[in-house]
Amino acid sequence: ALTGHKGWGKLWRNCTPQPAYDFIIVGGGGHGLATAYYLAKVFRKSRIAVLEKSWLGSGNIGRNTTIVRSNYLLPGNQPFYEFSMKLWENMEQDLNFNAMMSQRSIINLFHSDGQRDAYRRRGNAMHLSGAGGTLLSADELREIAPFLNFDNARFPIKGGLRQERAGTARHDGVAWGYARAADQLGVDLIQNCEVTGFRREAGKVVGVETSRGFIGAKKVGVAVAGSSSRVMAAAEMRLPMESHVLQAFVTEGLKPTLPGVITFGAGHFYVSQSDKGGLVFGGDIDGYNTYAQRGNLPVVEDVIEGGMALMPMLGRARLLRSWGGVMDMSMDGSPIIDKTGIEGLYFNGGWCYGGFKATPASGYVFAHLLATDTPHEVASAFRFDRFARGYVIDEKGVGAQPN
Ligand code: FAD
Repeated sequence: ALTGHKGWGKLWRNCTPQPAYDFIIVGGGGHGLATAYYLAKVFRKSRIAVLEKSWLGSGNIGRNTTIVRSNYLLPGNQPFYEFSMKLWENMEQDLNFNAMMSQRSIINLFHSDGQRDAYRRRGNAMHLSGAGGTLLSADELREIAPFLNFDNARFPIKGGLRQERAGTARHDGVAWGYARAADQLGVDLIQNCEVTGFRREAGKVVGVETSRGFIGAKKVGVAVAGSSSRVMAAAEMRLPMESHVLQAFVTEGLKPTLPGVITFGAGHFYVSQSDKGGLVFGGDIDGYNTYAQRGNLPVVEDVIEGGMALMPMLGRARLLRSWGGVMDMSMDGSPIIDKTGIEGLYFNGGWCYGGFKATPASGYVFAHLLATDTPHEVASAFRFDRFARGYVIDEKGVGAQPN
C-alpha cells in the first residue's frame, strides 16, 4: 500500500492456448489448480494447462466458509482427510505464499448421550489415523465458550468433540498460492476459456472443444465442482450427483470472541470468526436443484434460527453480506476421483459442501491418478463403481457434520 498499489508484479502469466498439451485440467478452482501444481512439482510432468471458463478462483474456492479439518469417521474418508491436513500444515512453506492458515480448532457440539457416544467413536477413528481430538465436557466448554446457550435451550449442550489441528485458511489466498506456484513451474493458466465438449478418436480423448477453439490433449482431467454434471454430459456421462446452492454469511467485525470453529449438533449451523472479526457462518443447502450462485430467503431464516438457538448474542450483530456457491452433491456425500469409461478422460468431483479442506489432497491424488493411471492409496475408495457395488461411503449423516 505504501507504493499506492503501483508496480506490483503479476502473480501469474495470462496465457493464450497452445495447440496441444500433454495434460489439460478443466476448472481453475482450488482442486484444478492444486492438481496442475502437484502434476508439475511432484510428478515432474510438463505441457500442462488449466482451462477456466471465468477467472481463476471465481467458483467455490472463493465462496466457502474456509473450514479445514480432518475429523471424519469412515475408513474410506479419514486417511484421505488426514493426508490433506498434513499437506495444509506445510502448504504455505511449500507454495511460499501466505494463505493465512490458522489452526484455531473446531468443536462439534453434542446434545445427547447417544450423540456423545457417536462422537467418541469418531474421535477414536481420528486417533487411529493420527488426527488427534479431545472430548470436552459441558463444564470445560463453558470455560472456552461462555456465550453458548447452555441453560435455556431446547437441546442442552452436553459437551463437544474438539480437533485442535483444525481451523480456517483464507480461501482465495489458497487459489492464488497454487496458481502462482503452478505458473512458476510452467503450467499455462488460461482464463475465459470454457470447455464445451470432448473430441474423441477411436474411443480415446484427443482434446477439448472450447470457447477459444479446439485444444489437443493426451489426458484430460475434469475438476469443475458444481458444474460437474453439465460438463460430463458433454462426454455422455450421467453422474450420481445433483447441484444445489449453499449460502454463507458474514457479520460486521467484532472483537475476538470465538475460540475456533463451532458447529451445532442439534441443527445445521457452523460458525468461525475471521481475522477481520466478522462471524462467518452457514448451514443447510437450499432444497432445490440449481446452477445459480445465489440462494433464497427460507434457508437464510433457517440458518439464522439455528445460530440464534446456539448463541443468542448473534442477534446483536449486523449481517454484512451473504452469498452462494453451487455444490456438486454426490449421493453418499463423498467424492469421486476416478478414470472414466473413456480412455484419457478423468474425473474429480462430488465434494458436496466439504471440498475446501480437501483441496491439497484432492489435487495431489488426482495428479497421481493422471500421472500413473493408478489411484493413490488414500483415495482408493473414491471410485465410480462404488454405487454399482453398493459400497457407498455415507458420511454425510454423521451427526452434525457440516463443512
Ligand atoms: P470451484 O472453485 O468451484 O472450481 C471449479 C471451477 O470450474 C470454477 O472456477 C468454474 O468456473 C470452472 N468451470 C466450470 N465449468 C467449466 C467449463 N465448462 N470449462 C472451464 N471451466 C469450468 N468446504 C470446506 O471444506 N469447508 C468449508 O467451510 C466450506 N464451506 C463452503 C461454503 C459455501 C458457501 C460453499 C459454496 C462451499 C463450501 N465448501 C466448503 C465447499 C468447497 O468450497 C468446494 O467443495 C470446493 O471449493 C470445490 O472445489 P473447487 O475449489 O475446485 O471448486
